[in-house]
Amino acid sequence: MLLGHIGIGFAGKTIGKKMPLWLLLIAVMIPDLMSFFFILIGLADETGFWSHSLLMTTAFSAISSVIIFIIYRHFYEVLVFCGLIYSHWLCDYISWPLEVIGMSNGINIFSAKKTYGLGLYQTLPGALLCEFTLLFLGIGLYIISYRYKNKSK
Ligand SMILES: [Zn+2]
Repeated sequence: MLLGHIGIGFAGKTIGKKMPLWLLLIAVMIPDLMSFFFILIGLADETGFWSHSLLMTTAFSAISSVIIFIIYRHFYEVLVFCGLIYSHWLCDYISWPLEVIGMSNGINIFSAKKTYGLGLYQTLPGALLCEFTLLFLGIGLYIISYRYKNKSK
């Protein structure tokens, strides 16, 4: 999933109003960004454990929550930011294994040995429907909330 994560990032702006959109988009993409990071430093992550497991998602959330709290001094922003990080794991759990692009691995929970997934992306129509629905819904919510904000001024 890629477009779906981005859509959720846009939707996140409707509840995380104090945070800039780019920060919310980073939050939803943290597992993928970490995946690139681990590849860059030469750490093989074949099963996605280090970047996409529920355990590591919790670790990324814990580290991020400290940073977000230092910046915003409020737990609400921490909750929104961490919720967006966990949304990545949940969306991947629903969509993996990504049979449409030949990836038969599911997603890890607490160990690299076993993977899980509901397999929405085993078919191309399922994948496309999910990606574009989330993208358009997210951007739609963002636009509606932006217009509402401007009207109420
Ligand atoms: Zn991912």
